Amino acid sequence: MEREFRISILGCSAATPTSLRHTTAQIVKYHNAYFLLDCAEGTQMQLRRMKIPLMRINHIFISHLHGDHYLGLPGLLFSLHLLGRKKELHIYSPPGLQQIIDVHYTTSGLKPSFKTTFHDIQQGGERLYHDKYLCIDSIEMVHRITCYGFKVSEKAPERNIKKEGILKYTIPVQSMQSIKMGEDFLTADGEIIPNCELTTEPHKPRSYAFCSDTAYTESFLQQITGADVLYHEATFLEEHAAIAREKTHSTALEAATLAKKAGVRKLLLGHYSARYKDLSDFEKEARSVFPESYIVQEGDAVDIQG
Ligand SMILES: [Zn+2]
Repeated sequence: MEREFRISILGCSAATPTSLRHTTAQIVKYHNAYFLLDCAEGTQMQLRRMKIPLMRINHIFISHLHGDHYLGLPGLLFSLHLLGRKKELHIYSPPGLQQIIDVHYTTSGLKPSFKTTFHDIQQGGERLYHDKYLCIDSIEMVHRITCYGFKVSEKAPERNIKKEGILKYTIPVQSMQSIKMGEDFLTADGEIIPNCELTTEPHKPRSYAFCSDTAYTESFLQQITGADVLYHEATFLEEHAAIAREKTHSTALEAATLAKKAGVRKLLLGHYSARYKDLSDFEKEARSVFPESYIVQEGDAVDIQG
C-alpha cells in the first residue's frame, strides 16, 4: 500500500514577504515523518496554521543562507526549547549556519533543552539522509552564493502480499519478510511456490525534487530526471528575463523547459517576486511548454501518488 507522501507549502514568496505570501518553507510528510525544507520568517506560525506538529520535525534542510530561506530558524529553535523538546534535531545546510545559531544562543544565554547537530552540505551531490523508506540527496544549484536543492526519493517498496496465497500455502510469519522482498517459498514437501503467486507488483518508487533558488541550468538535469513532482523556482516571468539573469533566478518558462527535459510528471512553480500580484501568468507561461505546470501558494498541499 502506498504511504502518504505529501508536500505542504508554507511560503512561496521570493526575497521579501508580502501581505499575502510568506517566503520559502515547505514540509515533506512521508508516512509519519515530517521534513522541513527551508525555514523562512514566519515558518513556525505557518506550521501551526497548517496543523503540522512542530515537535515531530527531526530533520531540517536549508537550501542556502539568504534570509528568505532561513530567518525563521532561530525563532523555531527558541520555541522548540520553550516547548521542552528533548529529541535531537538535525539541520543540514551550507557551512556557516551553526555559527549564526550559536550567536543567538550565547547572546541570550540559552542552553537549549535538546541537542542540535549541524551537518554542512559538501559540494557536489551527496546523500544527506536515509531511513528504511526514504533517502534525501542534495542537488547543487547555480546561485549567487552556495545553494542546494533536495531530492526526496522513496526506496523500492516491498511487494504487496496476496492474502489468498498466504492462506493457501499456510506461510509462516518468519517467511513473510523474504516473500515481501521477492523470494519464492519452499514448502515442507519441497514444492517451490513462485513469488508471483504470493505477491503483487508494488507501486513504482516516488520522488520529489525541490529546486530552490537557481538560474536556469541543466547541470543537475540528470538528478531530477524522472521525478514525479519537481518544484522549481520561478521568480520572474519572461518579460523580466534580464533581471532573472542578473539575480541568478529563473523564469516560469525556464522552469517549464527544464521540467520538460527532465521528463517529470508534474511541475510546481513558486518563489514569486513580490512585484507580481496576479500569479496566473506564471501558469500560462509555463504551460506553453509543459502543460503539467501548476502555481503553488501557501496553504496548498500536493500528494505524490504512484
Ligand atoms: Zn530566495
